[in-house]
Amino acid sequence: MKLLDTLKPSIYHLKKANIDEPVIEAAVLVFHVSGVDRLTAYRDNPEIGPVILSEIHRLIGRRAMGEPMQYIIGEADFMDLVIKVGRGVLIPRPETEILAREAIKEARNLKFIARGLKRNSGHVTPPVQQSPGLRILDLCSGSGCIALALAREFPDANILGIDISGTAVKYAETNAAFNKISNVIFLEGSLFGPVTSMPGFDLIVSNPPYIKTSEIDTLQREVREWEPLEALDGGMDGLDFYKKILLGAGRHLRKGGKILLEAGYDQAGEIAVITEKAGFKKITVTKDFSGIDRILKAEWPA
Ligand code: GLN
Repeated sequence: MKLLDTLKPSIYHLKKANIDEPVIEAAVLVFHVSGVDRLTAYRDNPEIGPVILSEIHRLIGRRAMGEPMQYIIGEADFMDLVIKVGRGVLIPRPETEILAREAIKEARNLKFIARGLKRNSGHVTPPVQQSPGLRILDLCSGSGCIALALAREFPDANILGIDISGTAVKYAETNAAFNKISNVIFLEGSLFGPVTSMPGFDLIVSNPPYIKTSEIDTLQREVREWEPLEALDGGMDGLDFYKKILLGAGRHLRKGGKILLEAGYDQAGEIAVITEKAGFKKITVTKDFSGIDRILKAEWPA
């Protein structure tokens, strides 16, 4: 059988299973299994053996059951990282790249300001390079994508990711190794649990579970049936984790340290109120690609 002849039945199978983009997804899986890139496939249309053919059937079957493409392929892109994913770990979302980017921006500012610009007879000497390295905490770190993006950007920073799921922590460690990043540690635990006696972080970031329990049923099948509920469910009002994180964050931040949180589509206002009540100042919000208030930033007052 020729490779391109597997496309039509694959597309048909996915269409019948109500998969949104059957043409694109069938092609991605067929070319993934065969290890032949699209261009070569259309130019040479190579003959394929029974092993490849049955593997194409197997993966198309998995996708038809609603399993997310990233779980089937085993990886997702995040910033310039390849993030290994599979059952038990949340797939990185594009909007979370905004959180990572904003966190990188803040970390850059903190690194510059934090270690003190020395005034020397009217001239400012930037002491940035003497910086002992930022300390960054990522709560609900999941696949590790945010912590790893920060770690790659700041090789002298010490980054700690914490997640309640042992499976997620294993994936995060695999991702650190796969991306050759060594300045990050992942620990299994509940929020601040593993760092109870550790103050002085420069930055805390988190993309916690934030979907209202009552809205879980309305999520896409791929998410609802396949991704870990514990990475999605934020309790009755979706705000459970923000309350706990914001209440504890002050004890773990240094003065002038920052917190950055990803918010659900309608939550930024409510989270801002909680943030203010917790004693944070300079609260700002960044929108995502769809104009939704997505990232909340605040400062622990000096
Ligand atoms: N953004 C994810 C979704 O829409 C939810 C992730 C989260 O709860 N933090 O499925």
